[in-house]
Amino acid sequence: MTTAQPDRQSLGEQMHALIRKLYPICRSLTGDGVRATLAELAQRIELQIHEAPSGEQVFDWTVPKEWNIRDAYVKNARGERVIDFQQSNLHVMGYSIPVCARMSLEELKPRLYSLPDRPDWAPYRASFYRPDWGFSIAHRDLLSLQAGEYEVCIDSSLEDGHLTYGECFLPGETQDEVLISTHICHPSLANDNLSGVAAATFLAQQLAARPRRYSYRFVFVPAQIGSLVWLARNESTLHRIKHGMVLVALGYGGSLTYKRSRRGRASIDRVFEHVLKTSGAQYEVMDFYPHGNDERQYCSPGFNLPVGAFMRTPCNRFPEYHTSADNLDCVQPEYLQDSLETVLRVVEALEGDRTYVNLNPKGEPQLGRRGLYRQVSDLNGAGKVQELPVLWVLNLSDGEHSLLDIAERSGYSFQEIRRAADALIACDLLAERVSQS
Ligand code: ZN
Repeated sequence: MTTAQPDRQSLGEQMHALIRKLYPICRSLTGDGVRATLAELAQRIELQIHEAPSGEQVFDWTVPKEWNIRDAYVKNARGERVIDFQQSNLHVMGYSIPVCARMSLEELKPRLYSLPDRPDWAPYRASFYRPDWGFSIAHRDLLSLQAGEYEVCIDSSLEDGHLTYGECFLPGETQDEVLISTHICHPSLANDNLSGVAAATFLAQQLAARPRRYSYRFVFVPAQIGSLVWLARNESTLHRIKHGMVLVALGYGGSLTYKRSRRGRASIDRVFEHVLKTSGAQYEVMDFYPHGNDERQYCSPGFNLPVGAFMRTPCNRFPEYHTSADNLDCVQPEYLQDSLETVLRVVEALEGDRTYVNLNPKGEPQLGRRGLYRQVSDLNGAGKVQELPVLWVLNLSDGEHSLLDIAERSGYSFQEIRRAADALIACDLLAERVSQS
């Protein structure tokens, strides 16, 4: 596989365009916003839509009622909308029960959420599992509300319905699977979580057009409860998942960040760490901790799947997180593209990792006689095979070391090691180890 793309530059722009399209949709844990989002993705990738009914038991959880909303506002005595869902869906607490009432400002105030230290931003609030209602407002606007009577309306419904999620399966040569998961339950918030949605969608598009050793399974789920539904419904085939990643917050600046799986030294953990280390860019690798996104379900002890999380600046570290400031300016095409390219390099390493045997292990083989010398003589040529990676591959290919092992130990990028191995295979100096299993 190769990551060379003629229109590389435009990929980030295309991802940003998808985010702009999805941004206005009022998503939540359930409801028509999730369906509309998945319908949009289904125009780009082959997506199967699944629904789980409200009340379905999944492990220790229950699928909640379905929430939908048409309108919501707070009007002052002059009939002006001082808080308006039509301006931003973030103004209404997610999962608000229907309300139609008149009340004084003092009665209303406990229902209004703001951020005194960020007076221009409205916070994202939701109450999925406890019936509640409320509005979210910029603190500056809250302070400007006059005493008097207000009309409050939330035209929502919370009824038995379904939880909806999407799945895109790309079969490969083997049944072994790579799981890619992202959450789809946030309303108008760009970095968390539309950047992850865009990255997963474009990754699926890219991989659909390539030959694949692994099968790839993309799941687009409402956070936590959605991954639990997926796990419950697929428990009998989870053993096929050999590698996995949660994609989140990939459009903001800051270092590339990888959070290891609970296993800590799974292949996916090693590959991500190696790709970041050899990228030449700033990066951070974090150990697993049982909080964050859906990795906490995939990595719960009853599953312990090799699933890490890939992000840039982690969610709780960018100030705009879960506020109205996580808007379309918060995600930049260049970062989206860089994130996607990094995941593609990880996939290349997963696809290309094999264990070989040096067929001329007694002493170094004469490279010049096999035409390899000419290739290695041009040490600076991009795409050319370099001498040292060739020697590393020859030396460590004793059937005990995979190409990833060799890349890690030598410090060369996986691509350089893979190229060296391909050149050695071409002149019959290397053969794939016959699997003992
Ligand atoms: Zn979030």
